Amino acid sequence: MTDKERKELVDIIKKEMVKLQRKIEELKEFTQPVEPDSAIGRISRMDAINNKSIYDASIQNSRNRLAQLENILKMKNDDSFGVCIKCHNDIPTERLKIRPEIRLCAGCLEHARR
Ligand SMILES: [Zn+2]
Repeated sequence: MTDKERKELVDIIKKEMVKLQRKIEELKEFTQPVEPDSAIGRISRMDAINNKSIYDASIQNSRNRLAQLENILKMKNDDSFGVCIKCHNDIPTERLKIRPEIRLCAGCLEHARR
């Protein structure tokens, strides 16, 4: 990986992290506790609870991805940045631009799924 590509990826990771943080903040607004005896009625209340669990799951996913990106960012100057953790081949930069948090090349990922 060239220095230019490394910088580009770091930029992408940082932007993605900002996006995720914003998304988490937005989702949090939807996940305020549902009042037990609010005036919205029983069915709406069940809807609200269902929606809340969807938003909660979405927040959890975003937080997980954020943590992964944070970890990747920490290794931005390491030789292992952008290198498959299994076969130690370079992961194509084009792939990393889409999913910077991936740690396996396509071949190893395919293998791991089997
Ligand atoms: Zn590999």
